[in-house]
Amino acid sequence: MSVCLHHGPNQQKNFEQLSEFINKEDDSSYRVLVPNKLSLNQHKASILNNHFNPTLIGQNIMTWEDFLLQLVKKSTHRAHLANHDLCHYLLFSLCKTKHTSLLNDKDNTYQKVEELLLFFQQVKKCGLDIKQANKTFGPHISNQTVFDLFNDYQTELKNRFYYDSGDLHLTTLQLIKNSTLIIGSVKTLYLSQLYPLHPGQREIIRQLKHFNPKLNLHIFYPEDFNQDNQKLTTAYEDLGDISDQSQYNAPSQNSQYSFIQHKSPFHEIDSITQNIKKDLESNYQHNQLGIILTNNNYIKLLCHNLDNLNIPYSLQINLPAKDYLSDSELNTEQINKKFNKNAISLISEKTTFFPTQKIKAIACKQEMTNHLNFIDNLFCEITDKLDQQIKNNYTQEALHFHKIPANPLSHALVITNMANASFHTKRKLYVAGLNLENLTIQKDSSIYSPYLYSKKEFFELLESPSYHLSLTLKKINNLLQQNLDLHLTFPESDLSGKPTTKLNLENTNIIKSTPKSPNDTSYLKERKTDYFKTKKMSFSISALQEYINCPFKYYAAHQLLLGRIDKDDLEPGADIKGSFVHKVLFRMIKENEADYIEGLEYKSYRDKVTKALASIIQEEIENEDSFKDFNQKLIEFYAWRCYKTINELINNESQYFLNKIKLTTPKYYEWSFSRNNTSLFELQTDNGAVTIRGQIDRIDINRSHKMFSIIDYKTGKLPSFNSIKAGSSIQLPLYMMATKSILLNEFNPSGAFYYGLKENDIKGFSISETTDTNMVNKRSQIKLEAWDEIQSNVTHAINTAVKGIHQGDFSPKPLEKNMCQYCDYNKICEYQAKPKPANLQG
Ligand code: SF4
Repeated sequence: MSVCLHHGPNQQKNFEQLSEFINKEDDSSYRVLVPNKLSLNQHKASILNNHFNPTLIGQNIMTWEDFLLQLVKKSTHRAHLANHDLCHYLLFSLCKTKHTSLLNDKDNTYQKVEELLLFFQQVKKCGLDIKQANKTFGPHISNQTVFDLFNDYQTELKNRFYYDSGDLHLTTLQLIKNSTLIIGSVKTLYLSQLYPLHPGQREIIRQLKHFNPKLNLHIFYPEDFNQDNQKLTTAYEDLGDISDQSQYNAPSQNSQYSFIQHKSPFHEIDSITQNIKKDLESNYQHNQLGIILTNNNYIKLLCHNLDNLNIPYSLQINLPAKDYLSDSELNTEQINKKFNKNAISLISEKTTFFPTQKIKAIACKQEMTNHLNFIDNLFCEITDKLDQQIKNNYTQEALHFHKIPANPLSHALVITNMANASFHTKRKLYVAGLNLENLTIQKDSSIYSPYLYSKKEFFELLESPSYHLSLTLKKINNLLQQNLDLHLTFPESDLSGKPTTKLNLENTNIIKSTPKSPNDTSYLKERKTDYFKTKKMSFSISALQEYINCPFKYYAAHQLLLGRIDKDDLEPGADIKGSFVHKVLFRMIKENEADYIEGLEYKSYRDKVTKALASIIQEEIENEDSFKDFNQKLIEFYAWRCYKTINELINNESQYFLNKIKLTTPKYYEWSFSRNNTSLFELQTDNGAVTIRGQIDRIDINRSHKMFSIIDYKTGKLPSFNSIKAGSSIQLPLYMMATKSILLNEFNPSGAFYYGLKENDIKGFSISETTDTNMVNKRSQIKLEAWDEIQSNVTHAINTAVKGIHQGDFSPKPLEKNMCQYCDYNKICEYQAKPKPANLQG
């Protein structure tokens, strides 16, 4: 078997090479595999132009999944394809009847089921069955019912011989492994536009190479691997070592592009439509022009402008039905009535936007309602347990989100999105909305721990926002190398008037356009005010602290959910080590509370606690999956350092107690507020009552003096007393305020302390003349009036932060310049510290 990689940004050349190969094939012994139906039509059209035997095209070009289904059908006695609607409805029914704890948020039912479906399918696409999935993901998913649901879902599909897209990959891999796969007469596979190949596809290709040595493979990748070895993707690395030939399709020249900045999307779209009008008046044909949109909200605006200029266009983006139909039209009964009566009359009622698609949307609704009835019957043992009302609500929601297939017209100018951008080799392409927010998908609610999204190993599998962004940026950079006539634009603000974030693109220079008044946009007014209606009023302390440290950092982490960069260190990252130490400390005191308190006075009890500490560290090291990827000698050394540090802490605490420096003793551990069912902590600000969420490592009390102290363990740098006083470090004061107001209102605060585990030092502040005053130096001991002032500074800081968040003020403004050096977002925020004046430069 030979494996040839055709790579490089020259798409035109890729297509030409593919056509040449196919022209040399003279029978049905080859397959061209493409990612989806849209690409299938494109390939058929472009190959037909050069092919001598058009009759072969139909059976030889197919999507990757259809190819797998063909293989599975040949090798198993019965196999049906379980499409998206079937899988979704089955999962929904199982959640509603057997696994009710998974769907507690009524508003997001459809999306939650969608997320579960994506997870199950992606896991199987990687070749993992339920058992293996449970082993890999079980420790990271808080609700274990997910795996019971997974099991039931698989059983139901299997009993009826249905295979979803994940099963097709898993079964193909199993068939290869058992040497029972039947490939038939196929001798050559051409993989085109399947970019990037996901892990399961790569594994199938690897296994096929070993299984059938006679099979030839040609893979076309629009990625320039010769240019920058640092950027080799996993996909290429995986295939690179099995390929025996490669062909580089270089761009014909390196172009420099203008990146035009417009005042708003309205100005941006107006300028594009005017330019297109001029193109058509010069020597361009409609089908030589294309527009790539990064935001579906631009579509209505663009189509409205093109309609006004009578320019025919082909919208090649699958939009959900809700974008074509009004709420009443989405109502099943209404559709049935009206559709049966006269579809055309419905269209003439209220159509200003893409009438053909609207007809299609209505037809799709009809078809989908029938399909749901079929699924309802197929799984009647489960679905009969559902109330009719629940079924009706589900149908409504499914209709709402159902995607209407795109509408390809060969003679028209094409409107498409970034995902399909590389399918087009137009003479001139307009790319609109190239700002950071448009390129990022956001996940607001999830059944998984957010940790899963930020884990490098799961980036591809769960399609984390960071992975999605890096993929889109790669696609844009590929476009920039294709020697097309490219017209790149971005708006200063989005459709709701919020400022946007500029992108740094290679080979571009930014030009500011002269603002002109855009056309009438009154018909879009209902879109404009969404942002201010959904003001967030509940925050975690760490999120607010992030905003105070740098508004852009908050934006990247909490609005765009970009996650953190995984660094290839020798040891586990600071966040993993931090949570490990917290876990150990929590268990050590919680499980040995009586001994710990006695140990403050007596050595024999301290010895007992340190002995328990050693076995807790050992157990936790064994349980911590993320440590397994690192050199075990280094982990052992780290465990020893932990033991030494915590031991020192135990001895120090005893000294404080014996010397009467600290008289409060441990009472509450990892005490949470405003989370799940815990008590609410609200702060009155000028923006209204803001709910603050948090969890305190330790609260110590002294019953006879009725005093309490807050302890927070820190493995990194400790905030200074000055920052606490100024209100820019909010954690300890808020912990103290929350404890006093909802947990210990009969007690008075004595102090709030950071226990620095790195240097074994203590920072924070104490209230003068209380039980724990001398835990910190004289400067950090404050009178009650100063404590009142700190509380008002913190409230003011939170008020300013919440106001900034509500107003969309997310400019990069680091509290201290040295924060930028290790910031995960320093490549995208575009912040540049002002250069020092000449006389201060070294
Ligand atoms: S690099 Fe600096 S300015 Fe940019 S996001 Fe990070 S902290 Fe903010």
